[in-house]
Amino acid sequence: MLPKSQAKPHVVIIGAGPAGLTTAYELTRYGVLSTVLERDPHKVGGLSRTAEYKGFRFDIGGHRFFSKSQEIEDFWTEILADRMLERGRLSRIFYRNRFFDYPLKPLNALTNLGIPTASACLLSYAQAKVFPPKQVRSFEDWVVMSFGRVLYEIFFKTYTEKVWGIPCSEISADWAAQRIKGLSMASLIKTTLLPAPKQRGALIKTLIDRFRYPGRGPGEMWEAVAERIGERGCCVEMDAGVTRLDWGTDGLKTVWTRNGSHQGTHFVSTMPLRELVESLNPPAPQPVRAAAARLGYRDFITVALVIDQPECFPDNWIYIHDASVKLGRIQNFKNWSPEMVPDPRYTCLGLEYFCFEGDGLWTASDAELIELGKREVASLGLIDPAKVVDGTAVRQAKAYPVYDDFYAHNVQIIREFLECEIPNLQLAGRNGMHRYNNQDHAMMTGILAARNIAAGGTYDLWAVNSDAQYQEEIREGETDISGRQVPRRLKPAQTGSTVDGAMP
Ligand SMILES: Cc1cc2nc3c(=O)[nH]c(=O)nc-3n(C[C@H](O)[C@H](O)[C@H](O)COP(=O)(O)OP(=O)(O)OC[C@H]3O[C@@H](n4cnc5c(N)ncnc54)[C@H](O)[C@@H]3O)c2cc1C
Repeated sequence: MLPKSQAKPHVVIIGAGPAGLTTAYELTRYGVLSTVLERDPHKVGGLSRTAEYKGFRFDIGGHRFFSKSQEIEDFWTEILADRMLERGRLSRIFYRNRFFDYPLKPLNALTNLGIPTASACLLSYAQAKVFPPKQVRSFEDWVVMSFGRVLYEIFFKTYTEKVWGIPCSEISADWAAQRIKGLSMASLIKTTLLPAPKQRGALIKTLIDRFRYPGRGPGEMWEAVAERIGERGCCVEMDAGVTRLDWGTDGLKTVWTRNGSHQGTHFVSTMPLRELVESLNPPAPQPVRAAAARLGYRDFITVALVIDQPECFPDNWIYIHDASVKLGRIQNFKNWSPEMVPDPRYTCLGLEYFCFEGDGLWTASDAELIELGKREVASLGLIDPAKVVDGTAVRQAKAYPVYDDFYAHNVQIIREFLECEIPNLQLAGRNGMHRYNNQDHAMMTGILAARNIAAGGTYDLWAVNSDAQYQEEIREGETDISGRQVPRRLKPAQTGSTVDGAMP
């Protein structure tokens, strides 16, 4: 799989996120040194870094540490040991000035909705049962059929559309069937009437209610890993975005940053796949470049507001279902760890906006975003705007790799080209492989990439599944084993509209 080199390998790793840093750390276990090139001038950790503003610390989205892989859990313990806090999860839905339990509990939901709306929910549910839709093609069709239109509009439509940026009528019904599998109105009612502990346990088993978290946020983990690999003789070069990769008949030879060039025997890339292909010199063949250009992303903004109040609400985060605001979710980082604020008299909230690079939200100034955030939390009645004493905005491009109907095909074209022409380059991590997955998956691909280089491994990194477990055998027809479920856009024939390939 990889070229056999007599000399000791020298490895160049692109990106100091969880995948890149884990690769470098794993290599040191075999005595192999590497150079890690990171585009960010100051912070390691990538999407899992912890941002900082005047001593207030916040994540790019809240980062729970949990994995089904014991190896990954052990890695985290090895690095931070007793700095890892054990946290309970509280996350609720906020809608029309009320908090709804999440996972949904019918009694709580109906009480909160009030008698008129609750009656409308039941009526529309009955209507959907008596007159089911003739065709169930979209997410909207599926949820309306299962729960009735009123519940669909309250609990499903708004948030899904905020996150993915496409109407629910254009998202495939398959996704709903996979995501909401096993949950039906009948099962919800049964759970309310027969609250046997076993049933309740089953209902919430998919929603992890405990997780670990470093005292100073996920960045503490990745800063510690960078420090350890530095102590072992590796170099993490900051402000070193890779802009060009020179390849030839012997594979990849040199990568270029603004500061100069780096040569290596082996390379691991965690930079976004689209950018990697765009940076190849000489350019990749046209079909490969076209496949890369068709890979899409969803972007993300955190507006961090500093509130002059010791407590705001007990949740780790709150989903915002009101359609009157653009805000999708609010993180309360002090409830993740008290060390996330420099002064216990204050709270720092992370207001999360999902967007596309270049759209109105993305191009708004920081001051406008802070104003928007302040206005929206005030309009929801969650925070008194007079208590907001400071704020900042952090834009995160390529937060989510998009899975449209064609992404797997496009990734396959790129993979085949790279595996054939540049076999000393391995792709790892989330955007590096265009996989919508968590830290544990990114880390496991890094561990296996390192073992391929240093321990004669022949691991196929694409065979790591979303539970960060290596699947020895991929069954026929399973091309997408490592992906978490994300919505897919309906095909043109199903919607009657065109698909631009930019969104799931
Ligand atoms: C909102 C949100 C919430 C999340 N919540 C969780 C959670 O609760 N739990 C969890 O485990 N995971 C969570 N994740 C996922 C987690 O952030 C990622 O899985 C993980 O960070 C992926 O690691 P990576 O190293 O593959 O990529 P990244 O974290 O993206 O790191 C890639 C690194 O490469 C650098 N880079 C990019 N281009 C170049 C270049 N040209 N040259 C040099 N360097 C470059 C980047 O600056 C970055 O540092 C969440 C993600 C998001 C967006």
